[in-house]
Amino acid sequence: MKSDSADPTPHLSFEFFPPKTDQGKASLATTRQALGKFNPEFFSVTYGAGGSTRTTTMDQVAAIQSDGFAVAPHLSFGGSDKAEVLALLNSYKASGVKHLVALRGDLPSGIGGAAQLIHANQLVTFIRENTGDHFNINVAAYPEIHPEAESYSKDIYWLGEKFKAGANRAITQYFYNADAYFKFVDECAKAGIVEPIIPGMMPLTNYSNLIRFSDSCGADIPRWLRWQLKERSDNMEDLVSYGIDIISELSQKLLDGGAPGLHFYTMNQWQVTGTLCRNLGFTENN
Ligand code: FAD
Repeated sequence: MKSDSADPTPHLSFEFFPPKTDQGKASLATTRQALGKFNPEFFSVTYGAGGSTRTTTMDQVAAIQSDGFAVAPHLSFGGSDKAEVLALLNSYKASGVKHLVALRGDLPSGIGGAAQLIHANQLVTFIRENTGDHFNINVAAYPEIHPEAESYSKDIYWLGEKFKAGANRAITQYFYNADAYFKFVDECAKAGIVEPIIPGMMPLTNYSNLIRFSDSCGADIPRWLRWQLKERSDNMEDLVSYGIDIISELSQKLLDGGAPGLHFYTMNQWQVTGTLCRNLGFTENN
């Protein structure tokens, strides 16, 4: 496994969403233990649109910490005011959280429009103003460009503003085309962005969910891949096995090409992500 020449250890992190049920929590506890063996830099926990998962995100953050792992809560202003966001930041700081994923987020479905949302660069400024250098701040990046972007170069400009505000690293939206990532990183470098841009990897495990979600978040599924997945959509075992081959190959290509690590969108499952990490040569504790 090759990696960034400046840092011989590739970054590795795993993303979870906060479970709602007791069964979901128990299953995620197993996932934490299984993926924790790969010594990730952190587990991250999503924050629902408009702050809708504030309590369940905090619960999951606490559960990860009590297992002894580092955690990166996702955070956005959503519908909250400055005092509420500051209270959340102070509570994370007091509990020993060192990483954050700072986002603009989206409005909950049905509300529409993005006018009231606070952009991520403004959130990063707010975090730095109020908590100094305490947090290591991750932000979002879009190799295939954010669906609301004014233009390709403007989207890169705003990513640059997140770094100027004090972000340390970007994690990308998922994609299935390595060239989109490499071209994006090149354009970012031309725009003066030197911070690490970690590819976000979405395992291929469910055809219809992937198509639906990708259309809404602007992630492109290449035509050949759509057809290959569609053909396997009635045979879960075949689809998962094919998906593991495709994502292993893509991830290896990214690491070989200089990507500084990987962030996995686990969907709270450990089996496929664990197999991918093993295929890529990430070592596991016993
Ligand atoms: P921004 O960086 O604010 O960018 C949004 C759009 O506005 C872009 O088109 C950009 O070009 C433009 N822009 C940026 N700054 C400015 C500015 N100051 N003025 C004008 N235009 C600007 N969503 C959730 O709801 N919860 C999560 O936990 C979550 N986690 C995520 C994790 C990762 C790694 C990624 C890649 C995405 C995640 N998302 C999450 C989705 C994300 O919230 C959406 O993609 C959202 O639409 C944009 O968030 P952002 O932080 O990229 O926004």
